Amino acid sequence: MEYKTLAEAYQAIENTSKRLEKTSIISDLLKQTKQKEISKIILLLQGRVFPNWDKTSIGIASKLVVKAINKATGIDTKKIIDKFKKTGDLGLVAEQFTKKKTQATLFSESLTVEKVFKSLKKIPTIEGTGSVDKKMQIVSELLTSASPLEAKYIVRTVLEELRVGISKGTLRDAIGWAFLEKKLNFTYKQEYNIIELEDRDKYNQIMQLLQDAFDLTNDFTLVTTAAINNTLHTIKPEIGKPINPMLCRKEKNIEEAFKRTGKPAQFEYKYDGFRMQIHKANNTITLFTRNLENITTQFPEVVDIITTHVKGNSFIIDGEAVGFDAKTGKAKPFQHISQRIKRKYDIQELAKKIPVEINLFDILHYEGKNLLKTPLQERMDLLKKIIKEETKKIVFTKSIITDDDQIAQQFYDDALEEGMEGIIVKDLKTIYKPGGRIDAWIKLKPVMEPLDLVIVEAEWGEGKRSGWFTSFVLACRDEEGNLLTIGKVGTGVKEKKESDDDLTFEELTVLLKPLIEVEEGRTVKVKPNIVLEINYEEIQKSPSYTSGYALRFPRVIRNRTDERDITNISDLELVEEFYFAQK
Ligand code: ATP
Repeated sequence: MEYKTLAEAYQAIENTSKRLEKTSIISDLLKQTKQKEISKIILLLQGRVFPNWDKTSIGIASKLVVKAINKATGIDTKKIIDKFKKTGDLGLVAEQFTKKKTQATLFSESLTVEKVFKSLKKIPTIEGTGSVDKKMQIVSELLTSASPLEAKYIVRTVLEELRVGISKGTLRDAIGWAFLEKKLNFTYKQEYNIIELEDRDKYNQIMQLLQDAFDLTNDFTLVTTAAINNTLHTIKPEIGKPINPMLCRKEKNIEEAFKRTGKPAQFEYKYDGFRMQIHKANNTITLFTRNLENITTQFPEVVDIITTHVKGNSFIIDGEAVGFDAKTGKAKPFQHISQRIKRKYDIQELAKKIPVEINLFDILHYEGKNLLKTPLQERMDLLKKIIKEETKKIVFTKSIITDDDQIAQQFYDDALEEGMEGIIVKDLKTIYKPGGRIDAWIKLKPVMEPLDLVIVEAEWGEGKRSGWFTSFVLACRDEEGNLLTIGKVGTGVKEKKESDDDLTFEELTVLLKPLIEVEEGRTVKVKPNIVLEINYEEIQKSPSYTSGYALRFPRVIRNRTDERDITNISDLELVEEFYFAQK
């Protein structure tokens, strides 16, 4: 198929739910794209203008887009808002009203990918007085030059809600289809929605190569360039750019864990802190979270510790930062340190009040050598050689190596006794698999796993609670990133703050108000942004929610927006896994 514009391709992708068809459309689009535009198209297909590892947000609220549509089309703001309330999608509103332009558009130049890309990238750099107006101006200029269809997708991209249903897997496959077609040796049969493969293993191997390259770089534009230049297998981690951290699978008990890892295995405490990936190159230290967010400025004391306690000029090490009480020295649960992650002021003071201890458990790169393919045992041996341990500053994760079920069980019991979340069982022979949830790392935790869900709707309270939102509709995601509702919660949120850990209705209301998109009586739809950690008694099948599941007695544990966004909240696969596991 030939696509005249990116918008046409978006539409074709949105109009099908078949993954292979989406892959084919994207691959056709990529093949016909000029070399110099490929990187931009790759990002725009993800509804982004920044690479996945770059957490810069365009940061434009729907109110501003309403103004921009008004400016570009001359249509009354009230009318725009009314339509928005009915459809819940400002993109559709822009599309409809662009058809009915009432203002002269004599000077509008036609849109190019280059122009859209450049304009969107500029938005977050605008600061100071009049910045809101300048941002609005940029959006309205784009809309003035846009066709109705383009207007729809520009608005959705500006709001960072493209959602045409392109999962990372689909994009990865499409890059393969477009640029490694001969090697993959396949035929796509659209009429039957199948692909025929000459050599399935080879096909899977090549797709895996693309996936590995992505997990290493978090950058599909780099992956694409490497596919085009046939350099995929030479992609290396780059110090200073975060790597997708390796994650765990869950198992029921020691016996099952051993079945997956083999014997002997390494048993480690699972601390309740947060993941920290530490990079050093050219005397510069950079710290990243599990979400690949750069938190170097927020943790100056960690930078100092790394400088003095880790030998070497260049490395990437992996660990968990655990908060503790400066007075008592006792470990503090994650909630207490979470405030440090987003903090922009009084950083030194907060660092003194809530210090962290770095618990190291891995090394991925050392003095120019990539260690991802090195077995865990060797990686641990090296790590031990280069760290100078000091309690409350930097230590190794507490661990044992054993093949004995009883010793392992005792270690697990001790961990829980000491207030750990659980333990992690690691296969000593395996490589470090960026982004992987494989059998090499198994976590054991005693409690029913909570879910991380995003608020998509909220309801105003009644009586003395009428100034607050008191009930929240929650959603998980599917593989393509579509949000699916799974329950409604109010329990767990407090009226009054009695301890630092409490999350209040007032706090949630303040967070949700700027995110309101559509108001219908007492209910509002909100931009999906606030992620809550949710406990529940059971997962049940239910037709009332779009996920097909509902939570029995859900309860809010905490606000997890600092660590999770809509790309890594709990997915349907996990919900199903838990559903079956509880039986
Ligand atoms: P959770 O909410 O239980 O942390 P998760 O989905 O974020 O789950 P998992 O893959 O289940 O991630 O668990 C891995 C996480 O556990 C890591 O990202 C890290 O933050 C934390 N962790 C604590 N101790 C260890 C350890 N010894 N080895 C690896 N990860 C650890």
